Amino acid sequence: MFLVKGTIVSSTNQKNVNRTLILNTILKSQPISQVQLTKVLKISKSTVSRITFDLMQSGMLKSIGTTKSSKNGRNPSLIALNPDYRKSLVVKIGVNYSIIAIANFSMTFERVKIFKTKKDPERFVGYITEFVKKNISERVHSLSLSIPGIVDKDFQKIIIAPNLDWKNLLLAEMLKEKLDPLFDNSLKISMDNEANFAVIAEMMFGKKINEDDRNVIFILFGEGIGTGLVINGQLYRGRWNTAGEFGHMIVEMGGKKCHCGNSGCWERYASISQITREKISISGSKFLNTQLKSSTLKTYSTAVATGIANIVNGISPDVVIVGGTISKIWDEISQDVVRKVKEMSITPDAANVRIELSSFSEYPAELCGAALWSFWDVFEGPVLV
Ligand SMILES: [Zn+2]
Repeated sequence: MFLVKGTIVSSTNQKNVNRTLILNTILKSQPISQVQLTKVLKISKSTVSRITFDLMQSGMLKSIGTTKSSKNGRNPSLIALNPDYRKSLVVKIGVNYSIIAIANFSMTFERVKIFKTKKDPERFVGYITEFVKKNISERVHSLSLSIPGIVDKDFQKIIIAPNLDWKNLLLAEMLKEKLDPLFDNSLKISMDNEANFAVIAEMMFGKKINEDDRNVIFILFGEGIGTGLVINGQLYRGRWNTAGEFGHMIVEMGGKKCHCGNSGCWERYASISQITREKISISGSKFLNTQLKSSTLKTYSTAVATGIANIVNGISPDVVIVGGTISKIWDEISQDVVRKVKEMSITPDAANVRIELSSFSEYPAELCGAALWSFWDVFEGPVLV
């Protein structure tokens, strides 16, 4: 659950709520001064001061100097998340390329390595184990994996990752068996669908969400299409953690055969693999922006817009965020996509939906979300009922 400003809570957990609000605001706007925190959160100066003091004592926050200038000559000190408070191993599994890195508590990455995805699960686990042996000597708290597929509701098993041909794969257990002997502590291993990670990253520390946005759709375009849904301020998972498979909504009855078994699924027309056979690396592709014919881009933007319009008409979100490999050609197709979505929207109000490119560019949003997931016990805050 996301803790959003303005949530009505009982006074008994008000202190925990304020603590989470302060941590979340620092995550989004760090470095920040106590004065700014008071202004943004509209909670008293003394509460902010008391809670930030406690958080500094516990090692979660650190002071990082002062603001440049202030009118009365006193420069308020700036606070930020302490990167050394906790570290986690994070992996983004891509269909062709994957990323492994150490995420620290301030959501930055160290020892980042991009590698070709080993399609054999045993070899994949072997690669991660070797990386850990060679690169990690310090204590890491957990391992979070971003999956291009559906994960079970306990976040331990891959139900299906169709483009990797992985089914009912107990990946967490396989990794635990190899990695636990390498650490003093037992590693907490957890995974989730990549689009869920992308949308939580965008909600919690992206730059495209307005304060009153409650319904947010993140659409990840790559080899397939994944969507992460935030409905009324909450990540929507559905009954079995399988919600968001809009890549498999049928846009053409009896259309192109899809690996899911159906025909005419949206991702058979609008995933990036439909316009290039090239295996696109994480850092992108020159081919994508130089070699594609304008007619190909036009057809492609119609396919992209058709699916987005279906989702917009069905869910009526505040904002649709697109990410993944599509970012390499978004400049060329965005105007066309936005215009076509407007034309296909069911009402003039629906047509005003914002369609934006993800604010994460240095590292994919799903990797940032995997990092956040590692520290979710801190940032999620108390569950409010
Ligand atoms: Zn399908």
